[in-house]
Amino acid sequence: MSEKPTVEEYLQNIQDGQFKAYKCVDCGMVIAPPSGSCYGCGSSKMEWTNISGKGKIVSFTVIHIAPDAFAEETPYYIAIVELAEGTRVSARLLGHDPLKPEEVKLGSDVKLDYETIEPGKKYLAFRVA
Ligand SMILES: [Zn+2]
Repeated sequence: MSEKPTVEEYLQNIQDGQFKAYKCVDCGMVIAPPSGSCYGCGSSKMEWTNISGKGKIVSFTVIHIAPDAFAEETPYYIAIVELAEGTRVSARLLGHDPLKPEEVKLGSDVKLDYETIEPGKKYLAFRVA
C-alpha cells in the first residue's frame, strides 16, 4: 500500500482529467470526495480506485448567484450524482440548458465528463449519457 490518499491529490486528479475515488481497503466501500475514514466500517486504510464513470442524477439545482470566483459562470447546474459504485458526488451537469431545468429528469443516466473553464480551472462534471 502506498501513501494515504489526500484531498490535494483528489483535486489534482480532477485537474488532470483523471477522477478517482477512494476505496476502503478493509470493506471495499467506495467514497468520494475523500474522507479520512470509511463511512462503512471506520477504517482509515484507503486507496485510490478508478470508477466506471457511470451514474444517475439524484438531485440538482441551478446556480444563478454564485460566489465571486464562479460569478461569470452562472447560470450552471450542480447535480448530486450517485455513481454506479454507490457513492454520491456533487458536480456540474452538462448538456442541459440551465434555463430549462424542467428538462432535467431525476434518475437519468449520466457519464463522467469535465468542464474546463480555463487552464487550471477544471471541474468534475457529468453529462447525460
Ligand atoms: Zn470500510
